[in-house]
Amino acid sequence: MNTKPDLLVVGTGIFGLTIAERVANELGRNVLVIDKRDHIGGNSYSEFDKETGIECHKYGAHLFHTSDEKVWEYVNRFTKFTNYVHKVYTTHESEVFSMPINLGTINQFFHSAMTPDEARAKIIEQAADAPDKPKNLKEQGISLIGKPLFEAFIMNYTAKQWQTPAEELSPEIIKRLPVRYNYDNRYFNNSHEGLPVDGYEQLFKNMIAVGNRGAGSVEVRLGIDYFDDEEIQKLRDVKITTIFTGPIDRFYDYQFGELKWRSLDLKKEIVDVHDFQGCPVMNYADLIPEYTRIHEFKHFHPERANDPDKWPGYAEDYDKTVIVREYSKTWQRGDEPYYPVNTIKDQERLAKYQELAKKDENIIFGGRLGEYAYYDMDKTFASALELFERLHP
Ligand code: FAD
Ligand code: UDP
Repeated sequence: MNTKPDLLVVGTGIFGLTIAERVANELGRNVLVIDKRDHIGGNSYSEFDKETGIECHKYGAHLFHTSDEKVWEYVNRFTKFTNYVHKVYTTHESEVFSMPINLGTINQFFHSAMTPDEARAKIIEQAADAPDKPKNLKEQGISLIGKPLFEAFIMNYTAKQWQTPAEELSPEIIKRLPVRYNYDNRYFNNSHEGLPVDGYEQLFKNMIAVGNRGAGSVEVRLGIDYFDDEEIQKLRDVKITTIFTGPIDRFYDYQFGELKWRSLDLKKEIVDVHDFQGCPVMNYADLIPEYTRIHEFKHFHPERANDPDKWPGYAEDYDKTVIVREYSKTWQRGDEPYYPVNTIKDQERLAKYQELAKKDENIIFGGRLGEYAYYDMDKTFASALELFERLHP
C-alpha cells in the first residue's frame, strides 16, 4: 500500500481482521492492519508443533461454539468446521468427574443413583442458604449447585484461576457453565460447535486472502507496536480512523489506573506416549496441583487420525503427544492480558476511559482488550460485525 490507507486497524485478532475484511470487501477500501506480534490471529492463533506436527493453540485452548446464526454463516465463508464436540473432565481428590456438573457428576459425588427430579430437589435443599439475587460468584455458585458441589468443584478451581476471592468476582463468570440434570456432558450449550479443519491460522489467512477483499486491499504489517511508531500514530491527525483492539487503559497511558487482568503461564511439554490423559482437557479442582488444567491438543482433532499420511502426529501408532499445563497468574505490565477480572473498581475505571474515548475523534476501541470484555470468539466476531453495520448501515 503506497498511498495512505483509508483505515488503520491495530491488532490482527478476530476483531481487527473482521473489520478489515468487511471494509475491504464491502466498501472496496484500503486497510492497513498492524500487530506487535509476529503472526496474525491474536489470541485465537494456533501453530503446528515442529517436532510432532500437532496443532497447538498458542494462547490456551480455543474451542469455537456459537448460537449466533449470523456469526456462524460469516465464519463458514472462510473455513469448514469439524464436528468436534467439547467435553471436559475434572480431577477432585484423586477421582475423575465429568464437567460441567451434570447428573453423572452429582450421582458420582454423592455415591447415589438419583433421578433428575431427586437430584434437583437435593440441590435446591443444599442451596437453601443462598440469597435470591446473588451478588457475586460465590453466592451465584452456591445458588446454582449447592454448597458441597460448589466447595468441591468450583471454590478452589476459581481461587486458583482468578486469585481473587469468589466474593469479589462477578456472578456472570460462573453462569458460563451449564448445570444439567441429565447425563449430557457437552461443555457448551450452543447450536454450532467445531474447529477449523485446517487450523485457526488458515481461517485467518482466508479472511484476508485476495479473493475475500473485493476491490479493496488489506495490508498486514507484523512486529509493529502502535505506541512505538510515530508515523502510524500520525494517521489519526490526518483524519484516518483507527480501530484500536489493544487495551484501552494502555492507550490512555493508565491515567485513571490499570484495569485488572488475569494472565496465564502455559507450560508446554512433549511427552513420549501416544495418549497422555485420554481427553482434550482435564481440570484440577483442588488447590494442589497448582495448575488449573492440562490441555492435550491431539484430542481436539480425532478426525485427523483417519488420514495419517497428511497428519502423522495424529496417527494411532504415533508415540508422542503435546500437552500444556495452564497456570493462572495476576497480570503485571509486560504480561499478556488474558481475562478481564472486572471488579466494581474496574468497571468504574473503564467508564472513565470510555468517557475519554467518546470525546476523542477518529478512534474506535473494539474487541476483548479494547472493550475490556470477556468475549468468546463468536462474541468478538459479533461485536466487530455490529460495529461495521453501525458505521455502514
Ligand atoms: P486479541 O485476540 O487479543 O487480539 C488483539 C491483538 O492486538 C493481538 O494480536 C495483540 O498483539 C494486538 N495488539 C495489542 N496492542 C497492540 C499494540 N500496541 N500495537 C500493535 N498490536 C497490538 N473463545 C472461545 O470462543 N472459545 C475458547 O475456547 C476460548 N478460549 C480462550 C482461552 C484463553 C486463554 C483466552 C485468553 C481467551 C479465550 N477465548 C476463547 C476468547 C478469544 O481468545 C477472544 O474472543 C478473541 O481472541 C478476541 O479477539 P480480539 O481481536 O478482540 O483480541
Ligand atoms: N469453573 C470452575 N471449575 C471448573 C471449570 C470452571 O470453578 O472445573 C469456573 C471458574 O470460575 C471459571 C468459570 O467457571 O472461571 C468459567 O469456566 P470456563 O471453563 O468457561 O472458563 P475459561 O474457559 O474461559 O477459562
